Amino acid sequence: MISEKIFVRLGNLYDVSGRVINFSAGPSALPVEIFPALERGIRYADAEIGVMELSHRSPEYEAIHADARERLRRLLAVPESHEILLMQGGATQQFGQIAMQFGPGAYVVNGSWGEKAYEAARAWHGDRVRRRTVGAPDYRESWSPSDGDDFGGDDRSGQCAYRHMTTNETIQGVQTREDPDRPAVADMSSDILTRRLDWSRYRLAYAGAQKNLGPSGVTVVVIEREFMADERADVPEYFRYGAHAKAGSLLNTPPTWSIFVLREVLRHWESVGGIAHLEAQAVARSERLYGIIDASEGFFEGHARPWARSRMNVTFRLPSPELTRAFLTGAEAQGMVGLAGHRSVGGVRASLYNACPMEWVEALGEWMTEFVRRPGSRVTA
Ligand code: PMP
Repeated sequence: MISEKIFVRLGNLYDVSGRVINFSAGPSALPVEIFPALERGIRYADAEIGVMELSHRSPEYEAIHADARERLRRLLAVPESHEILLMQGGATQQFGQIAMQFGPGAYVVNGSWGEKAYEAARAWHGDRVRRRTVGAPDYRESWSPSDGDDFGGDDRSGQCAYRHMTTNETIQGVQTREDPDRPAVADMSSDILTRRLDWSRYRLAYAGAQKNLGPSGVTVVVIEREFMADERADVPEYFRYGAHAKAGSLLNTPPTWSIFVLREVLRHWESVGGIAHLEAQAVARSERLYGIIDASEGFFEGHARPWARSRMNVTFRLPSPELTRAFLTGAEAQGMVGLAGHRSVGGVRASLYNACPMEWVEALGEWMTEFVRRPGSRVTA
């Protein structure tokens, strides 16, 4: 957790460019290259007004808004069959809104976030929601579409309005990189914009921006127009995707600053090579750390099964709580923050989102390698 302490200690917590090495699970680091644009955004286009002060109905803001949506479409290669919406409320609001609009659905649960999505759907539809659990209770497994489609009960998931999956389980560090075998609803909160997707396999995908796309406050929803046509009309307008689509995501006041920052982040990723570049980086970052885990002869124990490993959240344990504490304390002394595993899993979690530079991964890798060799590490183990 980035605490006040970190800001106070900023002077001695930094990488070579003077930044905290931030492995937080989200909100997380932004690409440093956009900071000058953000500073300019405080006073927009040299005018005596900043982006945050612009009316959301002004032509200046509308241009930013349209550009953010267009860049998302280009970078994610979203076809015209799907609408792109900028919403609020995070993935958590989507859990409920999807159920209210389209359910009952069938839920693949292979981690904590899938569990939450399922619970939200159950709150609305009760036992009519189907569930397939993969790898409980410690959730070290990913789900694969080839695992079959048995959701139990007297209903088959094929008769449900949709099948829901979580492509990357942020807490456990397990990921499904295979596109589903038939169109699904997917929580992509922690791995959107990190690999190519076949959009024909997704009816709806959603993600808060605060991990791979930008700051918190804006939620990206990609929804198939045909699917949207099936939504219920008997709920308040704000909860209907169609209403947001019709208004161009300007149904009410949007999070204008978050969308401005999102636009700057997208502009930056486009300029350095788009999704191919981001995917290659994600592979390189995660392979570096998994390589060290695998070479440690069991000193570092990965939480996810090797075939289920996430490129985004590398989760692992040390042989004892004392060694874990020593590892985390030593990391913090070198300027690395956000590494403590989620309390439900423990251990260490390194979140390696799009804006995490390779030099940060190298710093962590060096510390891991040094820590294994430290006198006392093996003894305590
Ligand atoms: N789903 C996943 C996979 C997540 O990682 C998170 C946030 N950590 C959420 C949902 C919840 O997102 P939000 O806080 O945007 O509601």
